[in-house]
Amino acid sequence: MLKRLPFDLGYYLPGVFFAGKPSRRYDDVSLSATVYVIQQGSECGIIDAGVGMHRFRMLVRFLAAQRVTPSWIVLTHDHYDHTGNASALQDRYGCPVLMHAADKPLAEQPLRAFDDDWMLGVRGATLRDAYTQMNRSEEEYLSEQRSVARDRYHPVAVDGTLEDGDVIEVGDMQLEVVHSPGHSPGSLSMYLPACGAIFAGDLPMWLGPARPHPLGHYADWLQSLNRLVALEVRVLGWGHAVPTVGHRRCRRFLENTRDRVRRMEAEIVGALNRGKCTTEEVADSLTIDADDPFVRRLLEDSVHTILHTMREEGTVKISRRGEDICWRAS
Ligand SMILES: [Zn+2]
Repeated sequence: MLKRLPFDLGYYLPGVFFAGKPSRRYDDVSLSATVYVIQQGSECGIIDAGVGMHRFRMLVRFLAAQRVTPSWIVLTHDHYDHTGNASALQDRYGCPVLMHAADKPLAEQPLRAFDDDWMLGVRGATLRDAYTQMNRSEEEYLSEQRSVARDRYHPVAVDGTLEDGDVIEVGDMQLEVVHSPGHSPGSLSMYLPACGAIFAGDLPMWLGPARPHPLGHYADWLQSLNRLVALEVRVLGWGHAVPTVGHRRCRRFLENTRDRVRRMEAEIVGALNRGKCTTEEVADSLTIDADDPFVRRLLEDSVHTILHTMREEGTVKISRRGEDICWRAS
């Protein structure tokens, strides 16, 4: 049963602590992913580090009150709001930071996302390509790069990698690694079969992959979400919310997210058939409320990722209309 903690830290399940409320603001550096502390006796492990001094202090205070020291920190993926405090926690507690090998390079050097040669070699396409395909300007691309360098730069030295099927322990409690790519190539979910809890990073986030290809991947995302739906999940902890509790509620939440994104996919096909062709035109035509500029950006990123999967499947191709890059059904 989920209980309120006696002080302002969030909620806990027996042995599974949730530190920090989700941020209402998505677009500033105070955004911080939810940190999960998996505790048994005097041992604990941490899933996602959050970002920002407030979250860091909250977590340190919490661990001191519980009289526990983390044995490991697992990062569900390479985004700064999940990795930001990892280096400081690693320094303070001397525990290893672990994540999937596919996300390790950008966690260690976030600016690699803007290195065309590196991206082409490792991811098979560049972020610059994605911006071009979304008709975003060179200035927008450079501004994104500056923002990562200035506000979102939290590199961490990753001590080890985790793969699908790996098991890590806290006391005699075992957590299974479920590789869940889509939001990023190396996204992980951590499954605690003993209480049916899963910590899924940003995978179940509405708007779908929410990253443009090649940072996100729609077909992978769909497959990962379906894998979670098939698990016996009774507690769903994810990146920016309080955990959902109860098997039916968890299942409904996961299925709902999946089905909304599949409806988005169907609407994208409909938009292309009606002659909408740029990423912006397609995004404009969707029945999704995205007035907030940050949400609008996430929406375009998801639309791009979905269109890219259609391109891989051969149902959509890229063409030009004057200066604009367009998508057309093939
Ligand atoms: Zn993320």
